[in-house]
Amino acid sequence: MGIKKISVIGLGTLGTQIAIQAAYYGCEVRGYDQDPEIFQKTIQKVKGMMKFLGKGPTMPAEEWEKAASKVKVVRDLAEALKDADLVIEAVPENLELKRKVWAQLDSLAPKGALLATNSSSIPVSRIESATRRPEKCLNIHFYMPAVGWNIVDVMGGTKTPPEVLATAKEFIRSIQCIPLTVNKEILGFCFNSVWRAIKKQTLYLWGEGFVDFRDVDRAWMVMFTPTHGPFFLMDLVGLDVVYDIEMSYYNESKDPKDYPPKALKDMIDRKELGVKTGKGFYTYPNPEFGRPEFLKGK
Ligand code: NAD
Repeated sequence: MGIKKISVIGLGTLGTQIAIQAAYYGCEVRGYDQDPEIFQKTIQKVKGMMKFLGKGPTMPAEEWEKAASKVKVVRDLAEALKDADLVIEAVPENLELKRKVWAQLDSLAPKGALLATNSSSIPVSRIESATRRPEKCLNIHFYMPAVGWNIVDVMGGTKTPPEVLATAKEFIRSIQCIPLTVNKEILGFCFNSVWRAIKKQTLYLWGEGFVDFRDVDRAWMVMFTPTHGPFFLMDLVGLDVVYDIEMSYYNESKDPKDYPPKALKDMIDRKELGVKTGKGFYTYPNPEFGRPEFLKGK
């Protein structure tokens, strides 16, 4: 079965981008959000965020904005799910909410449709029992930014057969992304686990006062990505989102070493959430790591 018609449920930061990416590469895309205005608002927000990514999205804004006009945003969930081959859920990272939404998706989507969650940390094995089709459920996890060439984790639940994973991977390739196959369930999937190790160590170094976060980013920029480092990426994702994800690792392990630093919580309480509020580790729209003198160090 090839995937041609997709429905994206939840059109916030990630859902909007996934819908645009799929529409750009020729899928018929319907989108639904409980807030009917959010799609247009998010397009503007994403455009702003992209400005800070020196490597940029791998397609120019004018082009992906054209693709955005092909996404059919509807106000009725049943209408959004009509005829879908694949449903991608991108509502907030909350297990109870996701299970509630998935029960609705299961009752309204065509029987043959695959159901995927874009969750950053919840394995689908914890959601699939909200449906009567566990053999069609899987994790399909896009990374931020999700417009342009991207990596995407694919992980099955307890009953997902290899054919369903193969179909999902074919879809991911068809929208010019690279599937990363997770063979055995793990929190954080493939690359998110690697990114999590980086976040954990860099937050620890900063949070305990060992180093200035700017020095970590300087080193990263010289060694790996000339345009930005991990602290900017955390600002881009949103420090509240980073905190929630760190807490989900802690809740799983109960290891005090997994608890996010208090200094991070303090920033969130001050509404310093990163790019979206204009201040996080850096100040936007002109963060200091964008200036040539930044790499001279202090
Ligand atoms: P977001 O808060 O920007 O968007 C969530 C959207 O879901 C909102 O627009 C909200 O109105 C909508 N929503 C809430 N309840 C709903 C319901 N019952 N029905 C329909 N819509 C509903 O969140 P986000 O950052 O896009 O994250 C969405 C998912 O993607 C999460 O599971 C998150 O872990 C994952 N994710 C996020 C990132 C990131 O960098 N932000 C990266 C990868 C994966």
